Amino acid sequence: MSRIESDTLVLIDPRSGDEVGTLACTPVGEVAKQVQLARVAGQAWRARTLEDRMGVVRRLRDGTLARGAEFVQLLGSELGKPAGEAWTSEIVTMGELFEHWLAVIEDELEPVPLELNPLNYPGKQIRVQPEALGVIGLIMPWNYPVHLPMRTIVPALLAGNAVVFKPSEHAPRCGALLAEVFAATLPADLVVTVQGGPEQGAALIDAGVDKVVFTGSGAGGRAVAARAAQQLIPCSLELGSKDAAVVLFDAKMPRAVQGVVWGAFHNAGQDCASVERVLVDHRIADRFVEEVVAAARALRVGEDVGPLVNAAALEKVHAQVQDAVARGATLHCGGAPTGQGYFYPATVLTNVPVDSDLWREETFGPILPIASFQTEDEAVGMANDSPYGLCVSVWSKDVARAEALALRVHCGVSFVNNCCFSGPMGGAAWGGRGQSGYGATGSRWGLAGLVFPRTVVIDRSGGAKEIWWFPYTPALSRMASGLVELGRSGGSKLAGVKNTLVGLVTRWKST
Ligand code: NAD
Repeated sequence: MSRIESDTLVLIDPRSGDEVGTLACTPVGEVAKQVQLARVAGQAWRARTLEDRMGVVRRLRDGTLARGAEFVQLLGSELGKPAGEAWTSEIVTMGELFEHWLAVIEDELEPVPLELNPLNYPGKQIRVQPEALGVIGLIMPWNYPVHLPMRTIVPALLAGNAVVFKPSEHAPRCGALLAEVFAATLPADLVVTVQGGPEQGAALIDAGVDKVVFTGSGAGGRAVAARAAQQLIPCSLELGSKDAAVVLFDAKMPRAVQGVVWGAFHNAGQDCASVERVLVDHRIADRFVEEVVAAARALRVGEDVGPLVNAAALEKVHAQVQDAVARGATLHCGGAPTGQGYFYPATVLTNVPVDSDLWREETFGPILPIASFQTEDEAVGMANDSPYGLCVSVWSKDVARAEALALRVHCGVSFVNNCCFSGPMGGAAWGGRGQSGYGATGSRWGLAGLVFPRTVVIDRSGGAKEIWWFPYTPALSRMASGLVELGRSGGSKLAGVKNTLVGLVTRWKST
């Protein structure tokens, strides 16, 4: 993590709280120039064939994966991520992301021809073809600082865009290592990296990028969306959430327990899709809580559960826990900072007041509140009682019932007997509803946000004019009303045919 001091990022190791160096911010006044460099590089990039672009993206894949161990080491020193987590969530996932996009991009960028009735539209062809937007402004958070930017950069480049990438001020060294890989594998300035905090992010929007892709907090998202609106720039927002896990009576106990514990405590709970609330059937609640608490106690601080990102996060998480406990919540384990760096142990609570911040607001820490429900309808109501809506997970041996229940929760991603893990997948859409944001990453729906659908109309009919051009005569109206009559069910076919033909012939005779 880091602290911003004027134009410098003071780097801090969250495992110890020690300052470990500095890194210069990009001067705010330079940001527009960087966008211009990317714009020029993007024009040359778009002129290359897709096959050629795919070759360069393969080079980017190989260059990134070859430095996997360096990224893992840096994720440890910059954010305190345990190595196993860094490898699986940031590096393996990135390899899969490249594979997906390289496999599907040719099909996804194919023009889509429109079927036209040759009688109505003689000699005409229409197609819709995806076209690069131009320069994508990518404003990223710190919690997955390697794969999150790549989720957008890979499809954006393949589609012919340039990117200006602003890493989080709390993960600037991961951003700098990515920038080294870009420099070694991509044409100059195709992906430009701008270092700094919100000021640089705002300057990037003001510099006239063609789209803003933002992932981060609700407060940041609102500010970014408002700024983009001033420039009339489209933006997508991937924000936080308060995701529920619903554990049904017939859930396979060891899997539900281990899954929910991983869902809540991986990345120290600093995942937009973390399990932040568990709703468990009242008939199995006592046993479930007991087993979750035992599993949470077994987690090793440092090896399994890394530190929080900074002192402010530690304070916020602890304040939520203290407030809930002061208002009657039962603390089963954890509940206080370890005293070293920004570590907070896995914490489990029950009886958390439903109007507390801990129950309602994103905690973004290793905290798991558990409540019980009487009926499945009540569980759905509790899961939906949140302004957020990124993911839900439902745990049951009856997969069909669990899926039906999961689909009743207003959110973007429904899991049955699993949670959280599909975010990095290139082929799966990722995005939330309500205060979890709008727009998608991944899949053809994510790609759709990185291209413009250009419609191309070609007419080879060669006639002097179209039947619907001037002058507007009664014959034209007669023909048109006949066509409408023919097109509606229950219309008079006889009148339709008559009016169409008479109108048509009269019209042609008069021109
Ligand atoms: P943040 O909003 O503080 O910062 C995110 C990025 O936005 C940073 O690069 C920051 O410098 C920039 N920024 C902040 N305010 C800005 C402004 N006014 N103008 C321009 N740029 C601005 O968020 P964070 O603390 O880095 O990230 C944590 C949040 O991200 C959590 O809420 C988490 O749930 C969310 N998140 C969501 C997803 C998802 O896919 N939905 C994924 C990861 C993280």
